[in-house]
Amino acid sequence: MHARDDGRPVGQPLIIPIFIPHLGCPHQCIFCNQRAITGKSAQTPSADQIQQEVNRFLNYGKERPSTTQISFFGGSFLGLEKETIRSLLETVMPFVRAKDVDSIRFSTRPDTISQESLSLLDGFPVSTVELGVQSMNDRVLDAAGRGHRALDTVVAADLLKKRGYELGLQMMVGLPADDDDGAMQTARRIAKLAPDFVRIYPTLVLEGSMLARRFKDCRYHPMALAACVTLVKRLFLYFNTYHIPVVRMGLQASDGLTRAGGLIAGPYHPAFGHLVHGEIVLDAISSALDRMEKQPDPLTISVHPRMVSRVQGLHKQNICRLKTAFDLKKIVLHQDGRLAKGHLVVAGAHITLP
Ligand code: SF4
Repeated sequence: MHARDDGRPVGQPLIIPIFIPHLGCPHQCIFCNQRAITGKSAQTPSADQIQQEVNRFLNYGKERPSTTQISFFGGSFLGLEKETIRSLLETVMPFVRAKDVDSIRFSTRPDTISQESLSLLDGFPVSTVELGVQSMNDRVLDAAGRGHRALDTVVAADLLKKRGYELGLQMMVGLPADDDDGAMQTARRIAKLAPDFVRIYPTLVLEGSMLARRFKDCRYHPMALAACVTLVKRLFLYFNTYHIPVVRMGLQASDGLTRAGGLIAGPYHPAFGHLVHGEIVLDAISSALDRMEKQPDPLTISVHPRMVSRVQGLHKQNICRLKTAFDLKKIVLHQDGRLAKGHLVVAGAHITLP
């Protein structure tokens, strides 16, 4: 598989993101800086702006993707005024009718899902709905000021699945009143809802949020990056056992929460997912070495060329850690294009990564 001009592998769906700030949101989630943004620069994009943005994406790259979706993200789509919802959907319909776009997706709060709100989507090719679950513990939801219950997520997920939507669930780690056990419990309850995919976001302290005030008063301590990576790795592996794809770990620099609001503190890293996968590889190699009676030195690891950076870890941290932990003088990375991407050969032992 080769890459297009935009870096997306050929054959992967093209998702065109349209940022919709949740103007007039009646809630005040503790981690959110939408109120700080609202009234300054954020407003629902005009039809012209949306059409220009979609055209910009469609004209980027030379090869036609297998599937193209328009994604309304950043706010709570079904929490918008009915007229705004319909007008946003109508705005992108010409692209669907021209067959440049196959379907529409959006993210929304669990408590905006009802038979009535979903009926607004009738006649529009919405295929995927993502719910901002954040936690399945009511105490954590209360502490985060979410204003909905875990039961809202259960009911919403059920309604969406019965109507045949592809379902994505987003959870957060590091919220006030939550801990590692709480995050695992949320993952267990999310897995029971059988989503088609999940996203995992670390809690960040953003300028203008209530969490920022608490952080400055030393009443909130964000997770350290290393601890957060390890927790998200556990969650990833848990979802993996249920064959639930984790499509994102960590925020992108372009994601809504970091827009127009400075990041003050928290476990942010632009390659967060890469850190998680690097730790999974480190664990796998370490267990293989633990099982060997004698550690080979030099140690040879064969890997697909596209997996080299994961094996090395960020700034070659994995190599340093392996050398220290197993008292190795030299590690030789052998690139082997015949190996499948999720496979390694460590000193002759074949390993399949989760
Ligand atoms: S996270 Fe969403 S629901 Fe919560 S305050 Fe921000 S915009 Fe409103």
